[in-house]
Amino acid sequence: MADESDRLLAEIDGIVAEEVRPVCAEHERTATYPVDLVRKVCALGLPALVTDESDTPYPTELFCAAVERLAVGWVALAESVHLQTLAAVGPARHGSAELRDRFLPDLRLGRVIAGNCLSEPDAGSDLSLIRTSATRHGDGYRLDGVKAYVGHAGVAGLLNVYARTGGGGLGGITCFLVDAHAPGVEVQPPEEKMGVRSLPTARVVFSDVEVPADRIVGRLNRGMIVARSVFVQGRLGIAACAIGLAQAALTHATAYARRRSQFGSHIIDFQGVGFLLADASIEIEAARQLLYRACREADTGGARVELFAAQAKVFATDTAMKVTTDAVQVLGARGYTAVEPVERWMREAKLFQIIEGTNQIQRAAIASRL
Ligand SMILES: Cc1cc2nc3c(=O)[nH]c(=O)nc-3n(C[C@H](O)[C@H](O)[C@H](O)COP(=O)(O)OP(=O)(O)OC[C@H]3O[C@@H](n4cnc5c(N)ncnc54)[C@H](O)[C@@H]3O)c2cc1C
Repeated sequence: MADESDRLLAEIDGIVAEEVRPVCAEHERTATYPVDLVRKVCALGLPALVTDESDTPYPTELFCAAVERLAVGWVALAESVHLQTLAAVGPARHGSAELRDRFLPDLRLGRVIAGNCLSEPDAGSDLSLIRTSATRHGDGYRLDGVKAYVGHAGVAGLLNVYARTGGGGLGGITCFLVDAHAPGVEVQPPEEKMGVRSLPTARVVFSDVEVPADRIVGRLNRGMIVARSVFVQGRLGIAACAIGLAQAALTHATAYARRRSQFGSHIIDFQGVGFLLADASIEIEAARQLLYRACREADTGGARVELFAAQAKVFATDTAMKVTTDAVQVLGARGYTAVEPVERWMREAKLFQIIEGTNQIQRAAIASRL
């Protein structure tokens, strides 16, 4: 099994070197989604690892190691594969046998791109404010409302939509697997983002969208149980993206500091630069170990998985922000220009402190468990 894991990671390294690095900057510049690459990586079996009866002993750990390797090359690609996986997690872990048989094969292989719609214009961190409604209509439901910042909007064929079916609060929300091309679904123009521009994010408006009752994921009014599974996997995947990004920045900044000379020395020999890089290496490794601890907890069904995943998410994403910012500092003026990738990485890192539950929300969740 170790051989199989090694083979998967080596395949990803090969794709990153040959197919990802040459194209990623241009995709980010032109904001074009790399659907073929996403499908190619999904077909290696990444979403299947955490949405299947995988016979790998530690599938979550392998998944995160693979996402980290992808993120070293291109964080938007890693995030897209992560998002695709998240969209399959709800149906895989909570869906009926019929729902799983019908949709999971396409979701796992990326044949149908998919997304998760939780956030709304007025419901961000506080999901009890969700207003999108699903009302009984004939044999099914009718969906109305607006979802905000939907990742994969415009390229997705399926959306997990969390809508109100019961009373107020978190208790009356249900998750539905909705066709993104159904009549009444309107994707608005993509947001102009600071980074990760190749991965589209947009509002999606639902107006009288008919959804059959058998598209409920999990149980009526129990959508937050589905969401909790998605949140745990979400924190782990984002931590892996952040660690890969930080590692890329450290490798790049170290190579530059070894090349660049000022005052008759390579700048890495100045303690102000060398210690910056040393600290980055320590923090990245610490983030990785926190992530692997959380993955082990997930893979062994441990009770502390939510806590460990939140700790890993906060530490890894704060580390990515710090390391990418320091990488710009090490490269000086060059680092501030688009001739080097570090300015893009710094913009990309900011996202991870915000999505999958902001780092303040994670800290609040951690504090409540102390
Ligand atoms: C590029 C991108 C992609 C996204 N993709 C998706 C997606 O695919 N699906 C989806 O559903 N959503 C998605 N989101 C939305 C994301 O999940 C939300 O942005 C996030 O949950 C925070 O919500 P908010 O932005 O409305 O911030 P708010 O909740 O309005 O928070 C604003 C600020 O207040 C802080 N804050 C709020 N409450 C507290 C508190 N109790 N204690 C301390 N601080 C607090 C927050 O940490 C934040 O700093 C995406 C967002 C972005 C930017």
